Amino acid sequence: MTRFAVPGRIAVSEQAASVWQTATLTEIRRETPRVATFRLAVPEWAGHLPGQHLLLRLTAADGYVAQRHYSIASAPDGSGHIELTLDRVPDGEVSGWFHTVARPGDTVEVRGPLSGFFAWPGDRPALLIGAGSGVVPLMSMIRHHRARGLAVPLRMLVSARSPAELIYASELGAETTPVFTRSAPPGVPVGRMTTAHMAPLLAEPPVGGWEAYVCGSNGFAEHASRLLVAAGQPVDHIRIERFG
Ligand SMILES: Cc1cc2nc3c(=O)[nH]c(=O)nc-3n(C[C@H](O)[C@H](O)[C@H](O)COP(=O)(O)OP(=O)(O)OC[C@H]3O[C@@H](n4cnc5c(N)ncnc54)[C@H](O)[C@@H]3O)c2cc1C
Repeated sequence: MTRFAVPGRIAVSEQAASVWQTATLTEIRRETPRVATFRLAVPEWAGHLPGQHLLLRLTAADGYVAQRHYSIASAPDGSGHIELTLDRVPDGEVSGWFHTVARPGDTVEVRGPLSGFFAWPGDRPALLIGAGSGVVPLMSMIRHHRARGLAVPLRMLVSARSPAELIYASELGAETTPVFTRSAPPGVPVGRMTTAHMAPLLAEPPVGGWEAYVCGSNGFAEHASRLLVAAGQPVDHIRIERFG
């Protein structure tokens, strides 16, 4: 975990997604006991669409390199900053470095944005379904929806083990229905996401129908997409991002 020194060699001057850029950590915000948000200054960032991700590179003093994909949590705002939200994976090389070593002022390298398929420009009704850190790209969509004052319908179902493990809990609003799998506040049922959670939304779809965005582990993505199809969502209007 401590293998990575702050990379000194920095790439880039261009804004293209194919170019590595230096990102300087400016702020760390705790979200839950094992999840934190890392705000990065990326002056040459070309912008992104909500739902896109980037490739992040850490380089150790001995030249060893680790690269991981991370969704962009922040809405596109032209500020030259982006935010990533990382779950601390046990013994994880990159997430472990961020959670235990990284400090404001440290630099990493990023390349992106990547993947247009999971992007939501805000042009169609969106039904967001996530679990755990799968909520990260969906939060970018919600933030974009709010920042732009969009009228297009947006709803989110998010699964978390408990209220304490619900990422962005204080930011979630009426668009979000949390589903708790291990423990819940008094009066709130405990259990897995089921068709009962989706059926009311799919029974009366908005004009144009929902575009469903599913994000989480392989297992969750499989489970949620089956539920969507069972509840009547057309398969060709389901987009899936797997973190597994
Ligand atoms: C498109 C995409 C977007 C992603 N966005 C995010 C994001 O926004 N936030 C985020 O936290 N992660 C995200 N991930 C996952 C991320 O890329 C890494 O896999 C994760 O941070 C673990 O990397 P690591 O170096 O810490 O762990 P590693 O050193 O790679 O793995 C350590 C151990 O943990 C296991 N492991 C690896 N990944 C996971 C996992 N996700 N859950 C459980 N066990 C695991 C490995 O099998 C291994 O045993 C995303 C993945 C993809 C493909």
